[in-house]
Amino acid sequence: MAAHVTNTLPDHWKYVSEGGATIVFSYFGPSNPQFDGTVLRLRKTLATSVEESSFVENTTDGEQDDPMLEFQHKCMERLIPVEHLPRLEPVHIDRTWLESLAALRDAERPEDRRRRDRIDVTRTKGILATDLVGGDWVAVEIKPKWAFLPNPAHLSDATRSIKMQTCRFCMHSAMKARAGDAVPLGYCPLDLFSGDETRIRTAIYGLWAAWDESKGTVNNLKIFVRGRKITRDEASLILSSDVDAAMSTEDIREHFTAALLPLLLDTPVLLTLSKIQRTLDPLDIEGLSHLWRLRETTSPPSTHAALGTDEPRDEPHTAAPIDVSSLVLTSPEPTTSDWIDFLDTYLSETIPQLDHTYPDLDNLRYYLLAYLLSATFKDCSIIVRLERLRPETLAQAVKPEYVTVIDLDPKAMSRLRKWEKLDHEIVTSYAAVADNRKICIDSRG
Ligand SMILES: [Zn+2]
Repeated sequence: MAAHVTNTLPDHWKYVSEGGATIVFSYFGPSNPQFDGTVLRLRKTLATSVEESSFVENTTDGEQDDPMLEFQHKCMERLIPVEHLPRLEPVHIDRTWLESLAALRDAERPEDRRRRDRIDVTRTKGILATDLVGGDWVAVEIKPKWAFLPNPAHLSDATRSIKMQTCRFCMHSAMKARAGDAVPLGYCPLDLFSGDETRIRTAIYGLWAAWDESKGTVNNLKIFVRGRKITRDEASLILSSDVDAAMSTEDIREHFTAALLPLLLDTPVLLTLSKIQRTLDPLDIEGLSHLWRLRETTSPPSTHAALGTDEPRDEPHTAAPIDVSSLVLTSPEPTTSDWIDFLDTYLSETIPQLDHTYPDLDNLRYYLLAYLLSATFKDCSIIVRLERLRPETLAQAVKPEYVTVIDLDPKAMSRLRKWEKLDHEIVTSYAAVADNRKICIDSRG
């Protein structure tokens, strides 16, 4: 039986953070076994949308559980050990309650987010999750991004030498920096994923420098103390309250690094993420794009059918004149059961390995889904929980399950073309960098 958030007051939920699709509040009301130590994750809707049409209610059982729950339980738990995932469960909400929460907390949201979207008050279910940032500890949220250099087999002559030398994240950062955005230029994900102590230290310094210089606006590192995201001016909050808070920021960085480093070295999570990303993206977007264009030009049976000879009437592609380039990518978005089937193949040890050097057109759907799932892991974050720092006792072991993977949402097929275009922009832009091209080392490749 799902809990009813409406048994609590909106005043008892404080704003924590938000992403593109969801917004998160944490419970800080009177002790309540159902809600202590939890956060409420709610769907958002565009500020301009007509709210009544934003969600279709299931007339018999009320609203379905958020598909995110099923995706996590049936898919993500097969890839990431459950001790490294937040606990998620459905929870009932209602419009009146959501409206008062929105009225109460909207002013705390970032200005640009408020202009774009708002809480979807038409929903009747939300997600209750473990509150990873809200207790009396330091929660370090890292968005590691791309963990590997691509397989060179499918890169063009124009991109191969560039993509094999500089990782996707560092090239993208360089492009954003030229556009004037704050980016962590000193951070390379391949350092973080290297498994090497010196390189992980470099990665932490790079993240810290960007956190420091951007006043916390770069989203690859966020630091929370008691549920609140802190800025560099509040860096001393990382320390235990009985430690001299007059310490310099550099000293705090050293203690922070000394506490975080052994956890990042010990946790199996980084290696798992890098393996998953790499094995789900064996073609690079260039090879994948080549494959889907091949499908479009080789006129497989489905294309002949779509051209209008003997296609069944209910087939969605028959009505409109064929837009060849969209045929593959507008195939229906994967459902949870498609993801389950995909994982059965991906995780199967008995099915012969696919030859990624000569990918078979028949496996196009597999490669599309693999790339989408890889994107989920390229965009997820990890949260590492540390005791508030006491420099003299740093050596004490902290449990490895204090590393949790979050933001594992499925990505939509409709984004593939955007990614293809972005990849082209990034590599073209980096090709124009004449000297001082960054050298990123993929030690897991
Ligand atoms: Zn790099």
